[in-house]
Amino acid sequence: MSILVVGSVAFDTIKTPFGEAKDILGGSTSYFALAASHFTQVNVVAVVGEDFTDRERAAFEGRSIDLAGLEVAPGRTFRWGGEYSFDLNERTTLFTELNVFEKFAPRIPDSYRRSELVFLGNIHPDLQKDVLRQVERPRLVALDTMNYWIERTPNELRRVLPEIDALVINDAEARQLSGEHNLVKAAEAIRRLGPKLLVIKRGEYGVLLFNEDRRFAAPAYPLEDVFDPTGAGDTFAGGFMGYLAQQGDLSDGALRQAIVFGSTLGSFCVEEFGCDRLRSLTRGEIAARFREFKRLTHFEDL
Ligand code: AMP
Repeated sequence: MSILVVGSVAFDTIKTPFGEAKDILGGSTSYFALAASHFTQVNVVAVVGEDFTDRERAAFEGRSIDLAGLEVAPGRTFRWGGEYSFDLNERTTLFTELNVFEKFAPRIPDSYRRSELVFLGNIHPDLQKDVLRQVERPRLVALDTMNYWIERTPNELRRVLPEIDALVINDAEARQLSGEHNLVKAAEAIRRLGPKLLVIKRGEYGVLLFNEDRRFAAPAYPLEDVFDPTGAGDTFAGGFMGYLAQQGDLSDGALRQAIVFGSTLGSFCVEEFGCDRLRSLTRGEIAARFREFKRLTHFEDL
C-alpha cells in the first residue's frame, strides 16, 4: 500500500552540545518520507522555494519517493532554527521563517488520490481537513499537530479529529489537548474526540499506544551516541506508517510491530545531524535493531 504525506520541507539550522549545522534539509515531510520509503512507496505533498536546488532534491532520489506533489513557489523555502540543552530533552526554537510555507495550500495530484494511508503532518487543521476532501477513502488516516495549533486553532482541530483514525503526538501535546495531566486519562479524553488510535511519543522514554481498550508500551532504544534529536518524531511516524503500509495489515499485532519499527527508525535518525542517517540506513541494519528491541524488552512469564 502507498502512503500520502503532507507537511513541511525545510532548511533547518540546528545547535546541539555536539555541534552545529546550518541550512540542512529538514521538515516533517522529509524525515517522514525518508523513513517510510524503507518500507513502501511514499507520495509527497509539500512546498519549497526557488532556493531548493537539485542537490536537496537528490536526497529523495533513487528511493520509493514520488515528488510530483512537491510544489516550487516563488520565494524562499521555510526555515527553522532550534537549539538543544545539554541533556537534549529540551529544545528552544531560535527562529521560524515561514516564507513560501505561509501560503501553502496542499493540492493532491490525481495520481496520489488513492493512497491507502495518509499522514497529515503538522500544518493548520483546516488544511489537514482540506487534504481529506481531496483523497478517496484511505484505509488509515494519521495526524500530527503541535502546541501552536492546540492553542490557536482549538475549534478547527476538534473539527478534523473525528475524521481521522490515528493521532500521533507527544506527551506534552496530549496533556495540553486533553487538559489532563495523567496520560491514561488524557488518552481516554482524546479518543472521545475522534481518533480510535492514539500514539503518544515520549522522547527518550519511549512510546505508548492506545487502541480501543488495549495498551502497548515500547521503550526508546538505549543509545550511547545521540547527536541530534531533530525529526525523531516524524521519523517515528514514517517507520510506523511505512511498516503498516508494507504489511497491509492494521491488526493489533501489526500495530505493535509498527510501533517498534517506528522506534527503530527514530533511534537511527538521532545518530547523525539532520536526515543523513535515514539515507545511509540499510534493510539489514533496520532488521537487526528491531531484533535488539525484542531482546531488550523480552522477559519470561511467571
Ligand atoms: P520534530 O523534531 O519531530 O519536532 O521535527 C522537527 C522538524 O519540524 C524540523 O525539521 C523543522 O523544519 C520542522 N518544523 C519546525 N517548526 C515547524 C512548523 N511550525 N511547521 C512545520 N514544520 C515545522
